[in-house]
Amino acid sequence: MPRDYYEVLGVSREASDEELKKAYRKLARECHPDANPDDPGAEAKFKELGEAYAVLGDANRRSNYDRFGAAGSGGPGAFDPFDIFASFFGGDPFGFNRRTGPQRGRDLVVALEITLEEVVSGVTKSFPVRSLRSCSRCSGQGAEPGTESTTCERCAGSGTVRLMQRGFFGNVVTASTCPECGGLGQKILSPCVECRGEGRVEREEEVKVEVPAGVDDGMQLRVTGRGEAGPKGGVAGDLYVQLRVKEMKGFERDGADILLYTEIPFSQAALGTTLKIDSFDGKVEVDVPAGTQPGETLVLKNQGVAHLGKGGRGDLLIRVGVKIPSGLSADEDQLIRKFAALRGEDVSEHQGFMGKIRNAFR
Ligand SMILES: [Zn+2]
Ligand SMILES: [Zn+2]
Repeated sequence: MPRDYYEVLGVSREASDEELKKAYRKLARECHPDANPDDPGAEAKFKELGEAYAVLGDANRRSNYDRFGAAGSGGPGAFDPFDIFASFFGGDPFGFNRRTGPQRGRDLVVALEITLEEVVSGVTKSFPVRSLRSCSRCSGQGAEPGTESTTCERCAGSGTVRLMQRGFFGNVVTASTCPECGGLGQKILSPCVECRGEGRVEREEEVKVEVPAGVDDGMQLRVTGRGEAGPKGGVAGDLYVQLRVKEMKGFERDGADILLYTEIPFSQAALGTTLKIDSFDGKVEVDVPAGTQPGETLVLKNQGVAHLGKGGRGDLLIRVGVKIPSGLSADEDQLIRKFAALRGEDVSEHQGFMGKIRNAFR
């Protein structure tokens, strides 16, 4: 569980963009790994800061994070804490560039359709994803098993090449990934026959995701490391699962509440009845009080959708429509006339009956 991003940056939840930037700038400089060579925890702290800023510094992600927590923000995406740092300080003020080694694989996005029932209960879903995955023959290293590699001459095995550049304040050493070996420090002599030295092959793999109860349409879940494998043993990217919640006839969702429409005859609305409803928790009986008006809403507490990351559930709201009877039989017609007379309500003279006779003579 990542720490609260606001806590990481030491700002309040109402902090402005400017305050966020300021907090990040100050903290990132303090805990940059190159400024703390003796602190083994500095890199993790630096990464955490970058992640917090990647989310809060983006208005869209920040609002998702505020509403749904880390699970709903889609995570920081494909971000590199050193890239974020560089965007603030225009390069690397400590004279190093840490990004050596093989490239990270790309992130992937897939869509996943779930039902409203699954939103209510939460669900574990398994589905196949076809992508570039680490080659099993060479364990992603790209070298044919049993063959040797040789140390890269260009970078002498370091994976990094350094360049001296003349800058404003004197000479500056910049370092970058060795173009010859792609940061591996090694050169492959006999490429793997399965992946031709790429270290990855295309194949279909089953992916399993836990969809927490209470998710919403359009939210993304991140599955770490299930994106594309990086070339030649590089870390895999992440898989983003974009949720689509299928519409359910008769049900409408309003945040954590679910609205259900039902219709009852006017006799039941007038005299009261007990409705049997198929709710998400099974069959439930709902009392409709006598004198219920069309459009009135009955509330079943805590039978709606879970509040994501907050605990508790919304309500199931049953909106009641009232059916007025039509095509009355002679007995029914008489009874309702009697009812109207008792209440002193004027009604039309046998319109239905006379209409029928008129039609018959037409
Ligand atoms: Zn291979
Ligand atoms: Zn090299």
